[in-house]
Amino acid sequence: MLQQDCHGVTWAYAKAAQSLGATVVQHTKVERLTQLPDGAGWEVVTNHGTCTAEHVVNAGGLWAREVGAMAGVHLPLLPMAHHYLITEPYAEEAKREEVQFTVDLDGGSYMRSERGGVLLGVYEQDCQPWSADATPWEYGENELLPPDLDRIEPELLRAYARYPALDDLGISSIINGAACAPAAPAAGDRVPICIALCAIRRPAD
Ligand SMILES: Cc1cc2nc3c(=O)[nH]c(=O)nc-3n(C[C@H](O)[C@H](O)[C@H](O)COP(=O)(O)OP(=O)(O)OC[C@H]3O[C@@H](n4cnc5c(N)ncnc54)[C@H](O)[C@@H]3O)c2cc1C
Repeated sequence: MLQQDCHGVTWAYAKAAQSLGATVVQHTKVERLTQLPDGAGWEVVTNHGTCTAEHVVNAGGLWAREVGAMAGVHLPLLPMAHHYLITEPYAEEAKREEVQFTVDLDGGSYMRSERGGVLLGVYEQDCQPWSADATPWEYGENELLPPDLDRIEPELLRAYARYPALDDLGISSIINGAACAPAAPAAGDRVPICIALCAIRRPAD
């Protein structure tokens, strides 16, 4: 999955669902979930109105804890700060070969092609939790955190030693963002936890 264009994949699913009759409603916040009696599903209250749903899927990402809490479910999730760098484009003659998605689990890095250059991500050993208690609703999906290169220096040094060709490429951007996903498989027991709840069936009151 790490090689995917997440935005494109999400829209491919949305388009496929629409072609099967689903309606996609954007810019609408779910504010309350109330389980209806006798397994009749859920009342879903949004800022644009209320509907009922047979099933509710919590795909709230950074806000999954808050959405789970609406259904009385505590999700033990902890967003973590996660870094990657994007290099300047590599030389024209090298562009024929796309850098394949590569993971160095020992060194704690991964890379792939991005904007004609290389995206170099790290699996932070010095993990930094972000907003441990709750994700603010006003936090923007595309907001970023200040880069903290000192924290990821060991992983970067190992990556540059493992891939000397990186030395020839300047850095065009440094990204640090909050991720609520197993983005750091090399980081031992400090990885974010993701769980799936297939169904909630509570006895009707
Ligand atoms: C710097 C960085 C680099 C990353 N690199 C990669 C990578 O290379 N590859 C990769 O696969 N992953 C990467 N990730 C992780 C990836 O971004 C996440 O795994 C992914 O975005 C999770 O998708 P999601 O749909 O589960 O959640 P999100 O992308 O967080 O989406 C959740 C959605 O739910 C909506 N939502 C939340 N609450 C409500 C509500 N109450 N009502 C209505 N809507 C709501 C939000 O508005 C949002 O649109 C990276 C993350 C970061 C921070």
